[in-house]
Amino acid sequence: MKIVFMGPPGAGKGTQAEKIVDTYQIPHISTGDMFRKAIKDQTELGMEAKRNMDQGTLVPDQVTIGIVKERLSEADCQKGFLLDGFPRTVEQANALDEILVSLNTEIDYVINIDVDLGILKERLTGRRICRSCGATYHMAFNPPKVEGKCDKCGGELYQRQDDNEETVGNRLEVYVKQTKPLLDYYSEAGNLVNINGQQSIDLVFADIQTVLGGNE
Ligand code: AMP
Repeated sequence: MKIVFMGPPGAGKGTQAEKIVDTYQIPHISTGDMFRKAIKDQTELGMEAKRNMDQGTLVPDQVTIGIVKERLSEADCQKGFLLDGFPRTVEQANALDEILVSLNTEIDYVINIDVDLGILKERLTGRRICRSCGATYHMAFNPPKVEGKCDKCGGELYQRQDDNEETVGNRLEVYVKQTKPLLDYYSEAGNLVNINGQQSIDLVFADIQTVLGGNE
């Protein structure tokens, strides 16, 4: 099953992605995670990504397209994948179409998690992530049982550097200008499914499963 996950920052893509990859056993390809790893590993890619991520702007298309192309060509993606955070521009969407043609495959579902933009600032600034396993929490809406500790593995929770108020504002602006237009692109292509992201985590996942169900 080949899925593209759309939705504004803070829509819950990461949280739902964890559930999808567990259930359907497909690789989770998150460009944001790939950049964060590159920053941690202090590679050249990481340094370039960091300059943009700290500002809440996008990493240049050619750089991003290159790493996705490489990743999608790996053997584990043949049976399926979940693309999370890519494409984010029309140029990336066009490049993805070309990559898929070259791999002789196509996307089965483009799932958009629809959330009112007005509530996203609070969602993003309250978000906390486990340093060990990457699980996500929200201080008010989905708090861990013990403050500062991951329920799943006991790891330490931290706030992403780009989840501060100023950067969040930029990220939302970039989403509206550069990424939201892709919804029309995929709607015209005919495989866009909108999911109401303003429900509990379990209900959002239930809606996603209704769309994907039986296609393992
Ligand atoms: P995310 O974890 O998806 O919220 O992404 C965090 C940051 O990584 C974004 O604000 C961008 O700076 C960068 N990034 C992630 N995916 C992309 C992409 N497809 N194109 C350009 N920049 C990206």
